[in-house]
Amino acid sequence: MFENITASEIAGYTVGALLLSATISASKLDSFVSISQRSSLGMCKRCGDLKMIACSKCKGSGLIKQRGPFDFITAVGEKQDFGLKATSPSSSCMNCRARGHFSCPECSK
Ligand SMILES: [Zn+2]
Ligand SMILES: [Zn+2]
Repeated sequence: MFENITASEIAGYTVGALLLSATISASKLDSFVSISQRSSLGMCKRCGDLKMIACSKCKGSGLIKQRGPFDFITAVGEKQDFGLKATSPSSSCMNCRARGHFSCPECSK
């Protein structure tokens, strides 16, 4: 009986791992072939019809993490409270005005 439970649990983990790896490889593949695929599908080459482009400066978060000698304090501060932006070592991204993305210039034409 114990062996049966263990086997089903292992099967569950295996399926989960397979699904996870499939998702990861799919997203990797997507970024790999995306541009040629998008153009063949008639999708926007810049954004893939998302109508927006993630900000490359802040990686879509809208916040720039301050790096320097206070890196340790930065890490602790981020864990403690995200709401205190005034005292947070992260500053809002000026590139995208803290939105984290731009509207796609190709789609807004
Ligand atoms: Zn930004
Ligand atoms: Zn677009």
